[in-house]
Amino acid sequence: MNEQYDVVVIGAGPAGYVAAIRCAQLGFRVACIDDYLDEQNKPSPGGTCLNIGCIPSKALLESSHHYQQAQQQFAEHGIRIGQLELDLAAMQTRKQQVVRDLTGGIQSLFKANQVAFYAGRGTLGQNNRVDVVAHDNTTTQLMAEHVILASGSRPVELPFAPFDGKQVVDSTGALAFESVPKRLGIIGAGVIGLELGSVWQRLGAEVVVLEAQETFLPDADNTIAKQANKLLGQQGLDIRLGTRVDAVHTGNTVRVDYTDGQGSQSLECDKLIVAVGRRPNSEALCSDDLSLSSDERGFVQVDDHYRTGLNKVYAVGDLIPGPMLAHKSMEEGMAVAERIAGQFAEVDYDNIPLVIYTHPEIAWTGRTEQQLKETGVDYRVGQFPFSANGRARAAGDTEGIIKVLADARTDRVLGVHMLGPQASELIAQAVVARAFATSAEDLALTMFAHPTLSETFHEAALDVADRAIHRAPPRKKKH
Ligand code: FAD
Ligand code: NAD
Repeated sequence: MNEQYDVVVIGAGPAGYVAAIRCAQLGFRVACIDDYLDEQNKPSPGGTCLNIGCIPSKALLESSHHYQQAQQQFAEHGIRIGQLELDLAAMQTRKQQVVRDLTGGIQSLFKANQVAFYAGRGTLGQNNRVDVVAHDNTTTQLMAEHVILASGSRPVELPFAPFDGKQVVDSTGALAFESVPKRLGIIGAGVIGLELGSVWQRLGAEVVVLEAQETFLPDADNTIAKQANKLLGQQGLDIRLGTRVDAVHTGNTVRVDYTDGQGSQSLECDKLIVAVGRRPNSEALCSDDLSLSSDERGFVQVDDHYRTGLNKVYAVGDLIPGPMLAHKSMEEGMAVAERIAGQFAEVDYDNIPLVIYTHPEIAWTGRTEQQLKETGVDYRVGQFPFSANGRARAAGDTEGIIKVLADARTDRVLGVHMLGPQASELIAQAVVARAFATSAEDLALTMFAHPTLSETFHEAALDVADRAIHRAPPRKKKH
C-alpha cells in the first residue's frame, strides 16, 4: 500500500497529536503514526504525557492527596470517619480509566478531524517516504510533502542501576506499584522524584530522595525552593542533597551506596525509583541513508521554523532542546503546523509556566530573583503569604507564598513565583499578565474576586509598591 499525504507526523504525544490536528484544521491531508501499546496491547495515542506521564501521575497525586486529607485534615473540618482503608488496586484502576478515557479522546479527535492514525513504528526515508511497521509486522508506505518528527523522550538509565521493572524502576514502573513499598528510595529530587515521592509517601511509604546537587530545585526562585524543601521535609520526604550514588545492589532488598559530605553511606530500600532526567528518542527515526543532525545529548537541531536540515522535515516537542513539558510541546505542535501553512507563529519561550504538583504546589514563570541579581537587573519584590488570605484560611490550606518580581524602572513583571494551594491554576494569571507585558501596577489596579486564592497574587503585586493591605506594617525593606 502506498498512501499520499500532505503531512505525516511521527509520534502522537502532545507535540505530534496537536500538530496533526492543527494541520488538519488548516486543510492538509494528514496522517499520524504512533507505536505505543497500552497494558492491554492496544494502540493508545497520547504519548508519554497521557499514557505514562502527566495524566496518570496527576491521577495518583489527586487520589493520594484525598487519602492524606482524610487521614490528617478531615477531623479539623469536623468530619469524623471510622477506619480509613487504602484500596490501591481501585486507585490504580481509576488512574488507568482516566488514561483510557483521554487516549480514546485523541482517537475521536483524529476521526473528527480526518487525521489518519497508523499504529506502528514510523521510519523516515528518502523523498519523505515514511515506512510504518505495524505491530503485526506488516509495512505500509506513506508519501508525504512534509514530515513532522515528534517522537518524544524516554527515561535516562544509570549504568550502575539498570531498570529491572521490579525493584529498580523508572517513572512508568513507579506509577504502577501494586502495593505501597515500605521503604522507597529515589535517585533524583527533580520533578518526577518529588511528585512520585509525594504520592507514595502520602500512601504510607518511608521515602528517601538522593539528589546529586547541593541546592534544592536550583531552577526555582530561592525563596520558594527553600520553603518547599522545608515543607516537603516536614511531610516526611527525606531529601538528601549533595549525594553521589556509587553503586546499587539488588537482592531481597535494594542497597544504594552513596557518598555525601560525611563520607560513604548506604540506603536500604524495597524499591528504587531512578528519576534523573529524560533523553530524546532521536535514534532510529530515519533510514541509514539520511542523517538527522542532533546535539551531543541527542536533541534534534532545528531552526526558528522547527526545520531540521532535511528538506521539509520538522521536529518538535521533547525531541528538540528546551524544557521537556507537555504544554511547550503542544505549543510547538501548533506553531509548526501554522509555519507549514505559511502563517506567522511563534512560541513565547520566555513565558513557559513550570509546575511541580507537590502539596503545596510550586509554579513559576519568568526570571527568578537570583537570575535578576546575576544579570544586574534592578528590580522590586512584592510577596504575600497564603496564611493571610481568607480563602486559604477557610480551606485550611495556608502554607506558601506568592512572589512578584518587577523591573524597578519600568515596573514590568519579570517573574512570578508561587508555592501554595492551586498554584498550578493560579500561575495562568501570571502567564497571561506577562504575555501582555503587564506592570505590577496594572495588576494592583485589577479587581480580584473575594474571597479567592487569587487575591494572594493581587496582594503580592500591590506589595511591589508597598501597598499590600492585609499584612501588618512595618514595611519590609526591598531587596
Ligand atoms: P511524547 O509524549 O513522549 O510522545 C512521543 C510518542 O511518539 C510516544 O507515544 C512514542 O511511543 C512515539 N514514538 C516514538 N518514536 C516513534 C516512531 N519511530 N514511530 C512511531 N511512534 C513513535 N509535562 C508537563 O508539562 N506536565 C506534567 O505534569 C508532566 N508530568 C510528567 C510526569 C511523568 C511521570 C513524565 C514521565 C513526564 C511528565 N511530563 C509532564 C513531561 C511530558 O510527558 C512530556 O514533556 C511530553 O509528553 C512530551 O511530548 P512529545 O509529544 O514531545 O513526546
Ligand atoms: P529532572 O531533570 O527534573 O530532575 C532530575 C534530577 O536528578 C535533577 O535534580 C538532577 O540533579 C538529579 N540527578 C541526575 N543524576 C543524578 C545522580 N546520578 N544522582 C542523584 N541525582 C541525580 O528530571 P526528572 O524528574 O526525571 O523529569 C524528567 C522530565 O520530565 C523533566 O524534564 C520534567 O520537565 C518532565 N516532567 C515534568 C513534570 C511537570 O511539569 N510537573 C512532571 C514530571 C516530569
